[in-house]
Amino acid sequence: MPTPPSCSPPLRVLMGPGPSDVAPEVLAAQARPTVGHLDPWFLEVMDQVRGMLRVAFGTENELTLPMSGTGSAGMETCIVNAVSPGDRVLVGVNGVFGGRMVELARRAGAEVVAATAPWGRAFAPEDLRRAANGGRFDVICVVHAETSTGVSQPLDGLRGLADACGALLLIDAVTSLGGMPVELDRHGVDLAYSGTQKCLSAPPGLAPVSLSARAGERLSARTAPVQSWYLDLSLIRNYWGGPRAYHHTAPVNQIYALHEALRLALEEGLPARFARHRRLGGALQAGLEAMGLELVVPPAERLTQLTAVHIPAGVSDKAVRGRLLSEFGLEIGGGLGDLAGRAWRIGLMGAACTRRNVTLCLSALSSALRAEGFTPRADPLAAADAAL
Ligand code: PLP
Repeated sequence: MPTPPSCSPPLRVLMGPGPSDVAPEVLAAQARPTVGHLDPWFLEVMDQVRGMLRVAFGTENELTLPMSGTGSAGMETCIVNAVSPGDRVLVGVNGVFGGRMVELARRAGAEVVAATAPWGRAFAPEDLRRAANGGRFDVICVVHAETSTGVSQPLDGLRGLADACGALLLIDAVTSLGGMPVELDRHGVDLAYSGTQKCLSAPPGLAPVSLSARAGERLSARTAPVQSWYLDLSLIRNYWGGPRAYHHTAPVNQIYALHEALRLALEEGLPARFARHRRLGGALQAGLEAMGLELVVPPAERLTQLTAVHIPAGVSDKAVRGRLLSEFGLEIGGGLGDLAGRAWRIGLMGAACTRRNVTLCLSALSSALRAEGFTPRADPLAAADAAL
């Protein structure tokens, strides 16, 4: 094979379901000199990352750290550390990622009960209580921000349900962390995982996780070893704290990037950051609806950092997304699972959540839709302005 030229990515605006645009400061941090993963200086960086993650997660949990791997590694970490073979696990499934948790819990040897809600709708605590049917469970899992549909899952009332079932409460915070309040301690969440490439706007590759003292005790009391050696937190916690024992070589430069992304988020202030996502996401949604597009999720259950919108009849998904990418350098996401080919998913996450991107997306999408024979009903930019 001839040696290829140096890898030189095109400049894109990333408004899909992730990765989102990475701030230049974060990319610059990632390019700093690599040091040893046990270097005393790096151990301090690790402690700072853990401290900032606790703030982002809204927790005092000692066992809070970024796992090496993407969001799915975070999901698998929480599941394999919380679930022993034969355990009973209740999972709320209203999109792709609840379905993935069912699969992972089954692979970890659990007996899984899947509570289902229509795609595009959130669970009320009573829905999950009905599915639990008075039974005992070891873990109850929900997706806080379902990226396949754009649903925001309220956490209120879930601790009470978990207590009634004797269960740990586990949430997927991949698309919520850094974009909306997560507040693990306030909601009594025992296990949470996220990814770096969504509202934190670091490159993909790390999965922040956090375990409560209760989940840590459950881990220490296990009789069956954690199914995965690589994701075994009873080993990994001895590298991120305590004796600093080698487990695997930490992805040092990825951790610099996360450090900078977290620093920028805290410098902005979490309340201000959440307000930015709410305000601009609301404006984008107003613009989409003004065009005559139908959003997948009813207003009260919508995320603002990720919006799923139905593709109008007669419009080609592929042609529109192709045009956005080739003519505007703009990436939006296609539908996943049940919504594949039927919806677009538009992200406004982290560094990509800007007024400029709202305007770009609405005008580029209007243009691409017109080319497909769909005439927007009203001016989306005026509607977005009015919403702001
Ligand atoms: N959970 C949710 C809600 C997600 O949106 C994603 C990715 O989009 C994942 C889990 C899996 O993360 P990753 O693709 O980084 O492995």
